Amino acid sequence: MAENIGLQGTAISDGIGMGKVCLYREDVLEAAAKYTISVSDVAAEIERFNNALAATKGELSDIYQRVLRALSSVEAQVFNAHIMILEDVAFIGEILRRISDDLVNAESALVSTLKVYEEKFRVLPNHYFRDRIQDVNDISRRIVRNLGMKHEGFMCSACHGTPAIVAAEDLTPSLVANLYSKQVTAIIAERGSPISHAAILAKAMGIPVVINIDNLITSLGCGASVIVDGFAGRVYLNPGAELVAEYEVKQKKLRAGAERFMRPFARTKDGVTINFLANAGSLHDIEHAKAHLINDIGLFRTEFLFMDREEEPSVEEQVKVYRDIIYGAAGTVTFRLLDIGGDKIVSFLPLPHQRNPELGLRGARIYDVYPGLINRQIEALLTAKGTRPLNILIPMVSTVKEFTETRKIIFDTLSRLKKSGGADPAGLKVGCMIEVPSAVYLLHYLAGEADFLSIGTNDLIQYVMGVDRNNERLAELSNPFQPAIIKVLSEIAHNSAGMDKEIVVCGELASDPEMAKVLAGLGFRNLSINVHNVEKIGAAISAHTIKELETLAHSILEMKSLEHVLKVFE
Ligand code: PEP
Ligand code: MG
Repeated sequence: MAENIGLQGTAISDGIGMGKVCLYREDVLEAAAKYTISVSDVAAEIERFNNALAATKGELSDIYQRVLRALSSVEAQVFNAHIMILEDVAFIGEILRRISDDLVNAESALVSTLKVYEEKFRVLPNHYFRDRIQDVNDISRRIVRNLGMKHEGFMCSACHGTPAIVAAEDLTPSLVANLYSKQVTAIIAERGSPISHAAILAKAMGIPVVINIDNLITSLGCGASVIVDGFAGRVYLNPGAELVAEYEVKQKKLRAGAERFMRPFARTKDGVTINFLANAGSLHDIEHAKAHLINDIGLFRTEFLFMDREEEPSVEEQVKVYRDIIYGAAGTVTFRLLDIGGDKIVSFLPLPHQRNPELGLRGARIYDVYPGLINRQIEALLTAKGTRPLNILIPMVSTVKEFTETRKIIFDTLSRLKKSGGADPAGLKVGCMIEVPSAVYLLHYLAGEADFLSIGTNDLIQYVMGVDRNNERLAELSNPFQPAIIKVLSEIAHNSAGMDKEIVVCGELASDPEMAKVLAGLGFRNLSINVHNVEKIGAAISAHTIKELETLAHSILEMKSLEHVLKVFE
């Protein structure tokens, strides 16, 4: 193979990573082993397939019953339809035929049959029937799991024990959730969007991340040598000795130059303080914040405790995790209640298929659909709190009622636990996320109800610009420097100025040094950030007076296009 083959992508987290590739294939259907069998194996293979089919039917019947109890017969019907697919003579018969005639294993027969169905369904004019292929896909994944595939996605042992560069088709939340227990020095992917949840978590790991690299997976195999340049957004396959030496020098320089910024705030030249809190999703992030003397956690995303597992964590398990976090942090932790739905899927919760998941059951909107789930999380948080202060933040609030109803659950649970001596109300605050345009318009009322407000700009961008935050092809529309975004932030700052309520900006844009300057200029004083960027943000803010930052912010407010705004920072 030729040396130094360069592939260009988009850098979303800087740094340099060097090492061997570990391929990640999320889809069990892609990853399943496919091989030929001999005639004497056919009977056993068919039996193996039939057993997996029976197990899958059993699972689907259980889900059907659970959904019937929790929701309604309309939602439950989806799973009944799935059972019917498993009984479809044509579909199942074709798989059995391939095992016995083509002499292939069950996984191979299933995947090849599915491909034929996909083609047939794709050309159908009616979208209802086109969409049914998703159901068939879903069921096929279940069957493959029941055929015994323990799929964690990683296709080789390269990342077990030794630091590896993980290469994936898509940067998904499941991939990132899987990486916490691994040693990873860089992430590269064919697809991904800079403000997707997965990208935010990947960036928080403080390693280089490059996405949108065309033909990445077809150019690589497990164990291939690569260099990832997270500054230039470039990946070099099979680097030669000279290039390796060049990047080793760069890496050394970076390590030596990584000055530590040991203050939980930045101060402008004329003495105005901008406080830093940290965004976190794991105990490791809390330790990292502490190492930089950032005491308060402005946003702890709790959903990752719930993802990639077959069962909801018990109240006891949650109490233990939350207690470690609350008592492990140096200051107050703001726990965001479960914000699932959208791109964060929890496998044990059978959310009905939604045509627009980001606009559907998500965040606070699911709490009355799954009351047990949120009650148990709140109980665990209040129990874990002990005598420490605790902030609970409610996500995806679009009406005052959603906020007050959720707050009521929190205080009802508190009263119940107090009676048994199990909760201390001192230092409990309930905050509201401002991340949907309706909440911006209701700011005054929500501030009247909440103890504090937290601005989630990732979703605010998504809903103000009407752009799916996960769609990599629309990155320009989700650029935080879009004039409409600066305007909406300015409005929030202006309308909250006299409210005497703590307001924190916790979305990703607060971690961008240039944007942090704009936020300070607009009047925000609390930024919850990705700790890896603290030096850069601190340096950017402290190089100016507040007047200069105000002038910068106001000049941008006059601009009508992204191009004009970006020119200011060239
Ligand atoms: C946001 O939307 O800005 C936010 C902080 O929450 P998340 O990215 O988890 O949706
Ligand atoms: Mg959000």
